[in-house]
Amino acid sequence: MRKIVVKTQRSPRSVIGVDLGGSRIRLAFVGPMGRRTGRVLTVPVTDRALTSVLALLIDSIRRLQGSGPRPSAVGIGIPGFIHRKKVCILRSPNFPGWRNVPIRDLLEPRLNLPVLIENDANAAAFGEAWIGSGRGARSLLYLGLGTGVGGGVVLDGRVWHGREGLAGEIGHITIDPKGPVCGCGNHGCLESYASATAVVRSYAEKAGRPVTGLTARDVALLARGRNQKASAVYRELGRALGIAIADLLNIFDPERIVIGGGVAQAWPLFHSAMMDEIGRRAIRPVRLGERIKRGKLKDEAGMIGAAGLAYHRLGVKDF
Ligand SMILES: [Zn+2]
Repeated sequence: MRKIVVKTQRSPRSVIGVDLGGSRIRLAFVGPMGRRTGRVLTVPVTDRALTSVLALLIDSIRRLQGSGPRPSAVGIGIPGFIHRKKVCILRSPNFPGWRNVPIRDLLEPRLNLPVLIENDANAAAFGEAWIGSGRGARSLLYLGLGTGVGGGVVLDGRVWHGREGLAGEIGHITIDPKGPVCGCGNHGCLESYASATAVVRSYAEKAGRPVTGLTARDVALLARGRNQKASAVYRELGRALGIAIADLLNIFDPERIVIGGGVAQAWPLFHSAMMDEIGRRAIRPVRLGERIKRGKLKDEAGMIGAAGLAYHRLGVKDF
């Protein structure tokens, strides 16, 4: 297999950022200042088998390439546990059949471009630290509240990977050891309280009936319409987030904690319960208003962050 040599260019002008999800791929050109240039190409994923997703990724990247300048690299945010040294996906909740997939080595020769692979929440954390709500902060923790709860840690401007590359799994902090079983096998993880999946499950429990087809956004709409049960779901979500965030403040004392993902759009519904809980538990709960922020890049954080990390790989460090 041919190796792609990364040449440090004086000024790479364009990189493609890719957000690979279980149901869709989104990608766009991103400039060196973090600004998206041109449209976001969205491609549905209908077959999650590895060969099909690889073919779809390559086809989508080529399609986008045809509409703009030649990119210097591709950065891809991927849900799942990624081994740092081997650059392989150990496993992914969104792609259940994938095991130990050396995705960078599979893509680079076919694209003939340097490819940067990163866990999607780590990429989103980097994006928010680069040009989002964490801009200027040297230390940032990110929580992405989506189908699950992703997490990322940026310290001194770099993603903190830990020994194996699996650091930052904030979604699997234990909130209640007797709580519901999480996808990771443990009980009562933050993900079991603060994800979109948890919102729907919790509402169904309170309503005492199955709620087929209901989404977390629907529950938020009910809460805004003063539905007591729906409001209680989001207050409980706020408390669980507050417990986790107080721990994070006590451990890291970070400049910024950014909360993104689709569920974060219900911010007014859980914000005060979250802040109350942090106030009770953090050792020194100061300047919380300026340290704890909603994500600014919304659903583009992962895509833009993956592009930013690709710029880093090209040797651009002047962020
Ligand atoms: Zn878990």
